Amino acid sequence: MTKAAKFKLLLVIEVFFILLFRVVDFKGNFLFNPFYIIGLILGVYISLVIVRFVCPNCGKHQIFKGTFIYKMPTEHCWHCKKKID
Ligand SMILES: [Zn+2]
Repeated sequence: MTKAAKFKLLLVIEVFFILLFRVVDFKGNFLFNPFYIIGLILGVYISLVIVRFVCPNCGKHQIFKGTFIYKMPTEHCWHCKKKID
């Protein structure tokens, strides 16, 4: 599984936990809701993955192309077209 595929899988899992947090009724403080805790930790991890997602060949960032320009990462670098594992 490539790095881009793992990233997309993490995003799907995060959306799944956010939906569970919104849908499943939890009695008590929401801070102790396991879906909230798992979603928060996974969100921080995804943020770290986003920051460190660069091409090993040319060093170009694969998600931030500019200040307000973002793209979904693919198997190949958008700049040098080399495969990213
Ligand atoms: Zn590259």
